[in-house]
Amino acid sequence: MKTTSKKAPAKSAASKKSAAAKPEGERAEGLRKLFEDQLKDIYWAEKALTKAIPKMIKKATSEELIDALTEHLEVTKNQVTRVEEVFQTLDKKATAKKCEAMEGLIKEAEEIMDEAEEGLVRDAGIIAAAQKVEHYEIASYGTLAALARTLGETEAADLLTETLEEEKEADETLTEVAETSINEEALAE
Ligand code: FE
Ligand code: FE
Ligand code: ZN
Ligand code: FE
Repeated sequence: MKTTSKKAPAKSAASKKSAAAKPEGERAEGLRKLFEDQLKDIYWAEKALTKAIPKMIKKATSEELIDALTEHLEVTKNQVTRVEEVFQTLDKKATAKKCEAMEGLIKEAEEIMDEAEEGLVRDAGIIAAAQKVEHYEIASYGTLAALARTLGETEAADLLTETLEEEKEADETLTEVAETSINEEALAE
């Protein structure tokens, strides 16, 4: 108890001091750099997904899953363009920086698809992989939108929130497909 109450105020006083020591423009530099790096990361990830989703569609069996993935492929292509628009609002050239996490998630998806025979069990695996991707994207766009708002980049924040909502919708659709047309049927396989 004693140590916590002693430590906490000391720490916040220190961080306040270092923030106040820098002029406002300079203070935003670190956060702006983080924001731009995260944006480059998701730009790479979205572009990688425009190549990965068609492979998932090819390996899927259920029509509902094929439809959901096909729709999200179109949405994803549009998201690539939207990230470019975000770069534009920042007066920055759209640049991609390899996203190690998305590369890993895509690798896992390929692994699942290679290991399973064609059918509904493989579909269930594809959904598992696709939802991990959507959750990564939800985390990324949630953070990006929050950073944009903090930096006063309202237009960028609106664009990023739009994509965030699309990713949430894709995640919900996948849950619905799994629960209504895949999981139960896969039991019988
Ligand atoms: Fe996306
Ligand atoms: Fe990433
Ligand atoms: Zn990354
Ligand atoms: Fe997505």
